[in-house]
Amino acid sequence: MAIQPIRIFGDPVLRATAKPVTTFDKELRTLVRDLTDTMLEAPGAGLAAPQVGISLRVFTYHVDGVTGHLINPDLSLTEEEQDGPEGCLSLPGLRFDTKRAYGVVARGVNMYGDPVTVEGTQLLARCIQHETDHLDGIIFIDRLDRERRKAAMKEIRETDWGGGPAPVVRISPHSTFGSAR
Ligand code: ZN
Repeated sequence: MAIQPIRIFGDPVLRATAKPVTTFDKELRTLVRDLTDTMLEAPGAGLAAPQVGISLRVFTYHVDGVTGHLINPDLSLTEEEQDGPEGCLSLPGLRFDTKRAYGVVARGVNMYGDPVTVEGTQLLARCIQHETDHLDGIIFIDRLDRERRKAAMKEIRETDWGGGPAPVVRISPHSTFGSAR
């Protein structure tokens, strides 16, 4: 089990288009395991590989007690929409109402390269759309209409991470007696 640090809004890896997975090896299975562990630990409903700094088309989800992963997803969306609160582990503590398709059929492969289809509505559909967006460098606030996005950007600027990578603060458990190492 390896919990990975989650990249924060402002990190360029979140804006890159992730590459399709072509090699289904042990390294990929480790990535899926790390994504799953990191997502469950956070906790979050989903986590995409770019959020841990890996620009590959892989994400995990944990919705209604079901945990899974999908690789190289291709989505079919319903015309019917839903509107409701959405959040992102890369924008900690913030939630904004976001319009999404009500239902989705996501085709892709699992970590062994076998074809899989994940079908869902409501929260699962929202999660799959959100995570697939991450693979295209899209962050959910991009999906907001103008007024909502303006309000969201204001809230982001008011966070302590201010829309950029949070500063890393290391506190030594031991006294350094004035000689920081
Ligand atoms: Zn996200």
